[in-house]
Amino acid sequence: MTTRFENGIVVTLGSNNKVLWNGAVVTEGENIVAVGDTAEMNKRFPEAEAINCAGKIVLPGFICAHHHFYSTMARGMAIPGEPASNFVEILERLWWKVDRALTEDDITLSCQIPLIECIRNGTTTVIDHHASPGMRDGSLDLIENAVRQTGLRASLCYEVSDRNVMGGGIEENERFIKKIGKGDGQIAAMMGLHASFTLSDETLEKCVGIAKDTGVGCHVHVAEDLADREDSLQKYGMPTVHRLDKMGVSGEKSLFIHCIHIDESEMDLIAATKTSVVHNPESNMNNAVGVSPLLGLLKRNIVVGLGTDGMSSDMLSQMRAAYLLHRLANHDPRVAFLEAPKLLLENNPQIAERQFGIRLGEIAEGSPADLAIIDYHPPTALNEANFLGHLIFGLVDATVDTTVCKGKILMRSKKILTLDEEQIAARSRELAPQMWQRLAAL
Ligand SMILES: [Zn+2]
Repeated sequence: MTTRFENGIVVTLGSNNKVLWNGAVVTEGENIVAVGDTAEMNKRFPEAEAINCAGKIVLPGFICAHHHFYSTMARGMAIPGEPASNFVEILERLWWKVDRALTEDDITLSCQIPLIECIRNGTTTVIDHHASPGMRDGSLDLIENAVRQTGLRASLCYEVSDRNVMGGGIEENERFIKKIGKGDGQIAAMMGLHASFTLSDETLEKCVGIAKDTGVGCHVHVAEDLADREDSLQKYGMPTVHRLDKMGVSGEKSLFIHCIHIDESEMDLIAATKTSVVHNPESNMNNAVGVSPLLGLLKRNIVVGLGTDGMSSDMLSQMRAAYLLHRLANHDPRVAFLEAPKLLLENNPQIAERQFGIRLGEIAEGSPADLAIIDYHPPTALNEANFLGHLIFGLVDATVDTTVCKGKILMRSKKILTLDEEQIAARSRELAPQMWQRLAAL
């Protein structure tokens, strides 16, 4: 099946970004076969099905480098007891109860809903970090099924932690990693780890052994709060990154999430081990945990990507949050204009490539056909030189009209085609009160 997405403003991104007015992207099967002027593409591919993208901008689908689908049912819930006054209390009173309260049906709904939100926001690839100690074994299969049903791409892992039971979740990761193997470009697997402060040396050793044997990276929260750093200093006599590196967790395929409370020597170690970092500005502000040393990480050529940490599935608003946060935090209106888009548009594709073995984030002949087609009438000239200005101040508030992943149209004219959004949300509203009740009893 060949499709011409035509008459739009095509922004190719990639190392040689081109802005093509009256552009067309031709897809065949799962890949892009040609990109160019609409009239020319009409001549070359007259038989292709035409999708009119007039009044729209055509971009590569976005990538979210850190998500928590399982957090969905906490939306709107009143947290029992006194308000949490710090990060550890937020975990203890909220997230470490949400994960334990989830049943099989909750897990499926909890990922179907953010997957729909991903489609709505043009996010076509997600790296998720899952926890459900009450329904652990087989949980990654439930998520895989939901991802395949929606048609998106996802890298999945289960969060190993000693907080409920020693080494809880190791087998679930190992089983799933072996099942996925090298992956098919749609589903990938990682070794999921909660964070240094809930993981013993013994558990880390087992996890790293499996990750090394199977050739996957580790996906772990690092120094999100000062408590993680202090725990590591107190118990192991070294800061978090040094401890994790000593245990073998770092490496080119591994993802260190947050990295807020780290020092210069830890940044040097992240750079030396080619470990990637994922920044989640909205979550950091929401939890009031601090500001990541983003500019210092980038100065060392560390691949820093962008995630939402479960806050949303909207990567453009997350990009703008990074832009605003680091201008304010550095008291410098000269920074973050290039850096914030770089996380999303350049670094997330690099991170995804290490997971999926394919190059995403670019509209080019031979690239995977993942597209975000957004309603946008530029009020000023739009070209290669000023694209980022349109991205940060215009596209961030524009609406995605059509989303394509693996060559399949998942949303067209804002209608989700692969799932019944209304029915799924209704079922979630039915089950949420029971989940909240189980949680209150924990
Ligand atoms: Zn997280």
